[in-house]
Amino acid sequence: MVLYFINLFSFATLFKELMLETAALKDLLAKPKQIVITTHHKPDGDAMGSSLGLYNYLIQKGHHVKVITPTDYPQFFDWMPGNEEVTIYTEHVEAANQLINNAEIICCLDFNNLVRINEMGEVIRQAPGFKIMIDHHLEPEDFDDWRLWNINACASAQLVYEFIVNVMDEPHLINKDVAACLYTGIMTDSGSFRFPLTTSGVHRIVAHLIDAGADNSRIHQLVYDNSSESRLRFLGFCLSEKLEVLTEYHTALISVTHAELERFQIITGDTEGVVNFALSITGIKLAAFIVERTDKVKLSLRSRGDFPANEICKRFFSGGGHRNAAGGSSTDSLENVVKQFKSILPEYKKLLIQ
Ligand code: 5GP
Ligand code: MN
Repeated sequence: MVLYFINLFSFATLFKELMLETAALKDLLAKPKQIVITTHHKPDGDAMGSSLGLYNYLIQKGHHVKVITPTDYPQFFDWMPGNEEVTIYTEHVEAANQLINNAEIICCLDFNNLVRINEMGEVIRQAPGFKIMIDHHLEPEDFDDWRLWNINACASAQLVYEFIVNVMDEPHLINKDVAACLYTGIMTDSGSFRFPLTTSGVHRIVAHLIDAGADNSRIHQLVYDNSSESRLRFLGFCLSEKLEVLTEYHTALISVTHAELERFQIITGDTEGVVNFALSITGIKLAAFIVERTDKVKLSLRSRGDFPANEICKRFFSGGGHRNAAGGSSTDSLENVVKQFKSILPEYKKLLIQ
């Protein structure tokens, strides 16, 4: 198996071998193929944006493309071009398995470990199709045949852009649908262009996407100003009733029970972004949102600077992610998970208060 670690920022220095493999990939995509695109469970804006961005590019080349998501996703991504073509795995298991097994090419976007796509993972591992990984998370698993992987990319959507423009050499295929999807991926994963990986290069890409027809103002509104009344009241409840600030550790946390989720009729996507409010308090270096789901307790961690939120998730909560945005889960009770989280802080105190 040949794997490639491409540094997109030194594209001119690509090795000859890589160029040969890229030529082989271009050959593979030169004629219409059966293609499946998939992304991580509970897809976020980058997962949907990179998947549908790639979808809208590949259909212009005559490919037969299906996007399969492991689970459902927030309604504020429903407007994205190609959304009507998305199959949710858990709702159509047999049909989706058939699509995966018949696919000549399987594109895995915004994840790099098959556990991130639940029971779909083993189906994809066994499937005969050529597997492409486009991703920006740490520590990729070795299940692919070709990859575009860069942890310095602010979003997988940025890598899909690089794939179309630099690998495939087809910038003219960035049409308004591709542009709208990739814009959404970059916008959401970069925290609306404010996280450290939002380089001038990213802004140049975004400028191209707007020129290509991404209606930036409308997209912001569709994604961020599209909440139900109960979602907003839930946010208010979290901030006024559930926020705990642990000043000694420069840490803030919000924990929510299943009953509270039900009280506010929380649906997929409604808890998105709550953790960022905890991190926005002056001086806070680590923020946690801990929520009791039906089958497990899920943690979302966010951090500032060099504090490794992903290390905490990996060591204690069977998870991982990026240094400043990570997640994990536990089968213990909510109360115990909160206790455990707090008990970890003394070990990290030096890093938290520096
Ligand atoms: P969120 O807090 O928004 O659910 O996730 C933030 C980031 O953490 C995601 O982009 C993903 O990289 C990572 N992440 C979240 N949950 C998990 C998990 O259970 N396992 C791993 N490996 N990464 C996770
Ligand atoms: Mn991402």
